Amino acid sequence: MRHGRVKERARILVVGGGYVGTYTALRLQRRLKRDLGRGEAEITVVTPDPYMTYQPFLPEAAAGAISPRHVVVPLRRVLDRCRVVIGEATAVDHATRTATVRTPATEEEGTDGRRIEYDELVLAPGSVARTLPIPGLADHAIGFKTVEEAIGLRNHVLEQMDIASSTRDPDVRDAALTFVFVGGGYAGVEALGELEDMARYATRYYHNVRPEDMKWILVEASDRILPEVGEEMGRYTVTELRRRNIDVRLETRLDSCADRVAVLSDGSRFPTRTVVWTAGVKPHPVLAATDLPLNERGRLRCTAELAVEGVAHAWAAGDAAAVPDVTAEEKGRECAPNAQHALRQAKVLGDNVVHALRGEPLETYAHKYAGSVASLGLHKGVAQIYGRKLKGYPAWFMHRTYHLSRVPTFNRKARVAAEWTLAGLFKREIVSLGSLEHPRAEFELAAGGKPSHDPPHNPKGSS
Ligand SMILES: Cc1cc2nc3c(=O)[nH]c(=O)nc-3n(C[C@H](O)[C@H](O)[C@H](O)COP(=O)(O)OP(=O)(O)OC[C@H]3O[C@@H](n4cnc5c(N)ncnc54)[C@H](O)[C@@H]3O)c2cc1C
Repeated sequence: MRHGRVKERARILVVGGGYVGTYTALRLQRRLKRDLGRGEAEITVVTPDPYMTYQPFLPEAAAGAISPRHVVVPLRRVLDRCRVVIGEATAVDHATRTATVRTPATEEEGTDGRRIEYDELVLAPGSVARTLPIPGLADHAIGFKTVEEAIGLRNHVLEQMDIASSTRDPDVRDAALTFVFVGGGYAGVEALGELEDMARYATRYYHNVRPEDMKWILVEASDRILPEVGEEMGRYTVTELRRRNIDVRLETRLDSCADRVAVLSDGSRFPTRTVVWTAGVKPHPVLAATDLPLNERGRLRCTAELAVEGVAHAWAAGDAAAVPDVTAEEKGRECAPNAQHALRQAKVLGDNVVHALRGEPLETYAHKYAGSVASLGLHKGVAQIYGRKLKGYPAWFMHRTYHLSRVPTFNRKARVAAEWTLAGLFKREIVSLGSLEHPRAEFELAAGGKPSHDPPHNPKGSS
């Protein structure tokens, strides 16, 4: 067989359409273009949603600075040489090279899933929220990992302001205007920073809600926030948030949020309808339903070549994978679960799958963490990149340019850039479209039925 062609027909299965899955599939479809055309290779991507979510833009989507459509990348369009299967892998038996996939169709048919056979496996289901058995958490809290959660939270915050504006009950008003965020990583800090900024702006259109009427609380168990931007910038962020009247509580935990009261470990109690949980992530539970090796924290054991350790034809990267950080001074350190690694690992992973298929030597993944950027609201931010520290407007600008440069495809970059430009010319959108989440509610009422969801304006219905 000639060098540059796959040695045998290869069916590649990519599980997950997030950062790693999408960028790996993009790389593979480009590098295997001719093999795909000749039918010597086939790429299948299994993922629950027909889009990839660009998670670092979720806080801006929650604030209304980017529309939800532009935070996601349509997979069928960008992966036009792959087969995209909408569904969830529920198990992988690598010994027989078979994955079980549950799709909307298999659910309707009442079967336990469809089997997909493969020759090479790329396992990239990412992570899920790391929760704790805190009373009330599962019933009342919301995460911040998906576009649905980000937009749901935006609508919810605006609805709470409407409730506060219309109620005569001071307790209802207080609870509606209290927003508790748990977890001081970039997801929590950016979500809080952006939403507080949006709500503060929105108050100018309410006759009876002022910025100082709202309570925004950030609860963090350790003694610092935003470890990604370094200690000094983390301290700056605390000062900046406190200057905005945000109550930052370090070395404090959420003990309970039962009965809609957030009880903290320092003894304070806040009646609230809003608890946002962003206290870390853990590897996706589907990994435990495979015959592949996991480490003590449930991540797939991988080599620096992004192959699953001791197993042929299985590859992984991103939040689900324990990839050794070969640039770290400390031995045995793993790459942190973040987009910076996920994106770069996907490129090496795609190349290594191609190398393996062509019988070529593999590349080693080595990337020294470059620092991080975070936005804290419109024109507000904090950054530490290659040792350079930035705050305020320059950091916010850096955040936008950096993430814009990372969004997949030119088309998507252009849409986001156009939206930001237009947003600079007009006033911010501050309308809540919470009723979009229950489109049948009005019709069910009109038809004399019982609505399956509380109407969005009902204070009891908001969570
Ligand atoms: C709000 C927020 C802001 C962030 N900001 C930053 C930032 O500024 N900088 C940074 O470096 N990182 C940031 N991150 C982290 C970054 O987004 C993740 O580290 C990155 O997405 C990990 O990539 P991944 O491919 O491993 O997982 P994901 O991108 O989460 O992709 C996993 C995919 O697998 C799919 N999937 C799950 N289960 C299955 C299954 N059983 N079968 C098939 N598919 C499945 C999921 O639906 C998803 O599409 C942020 C994260 C969040 C939530």
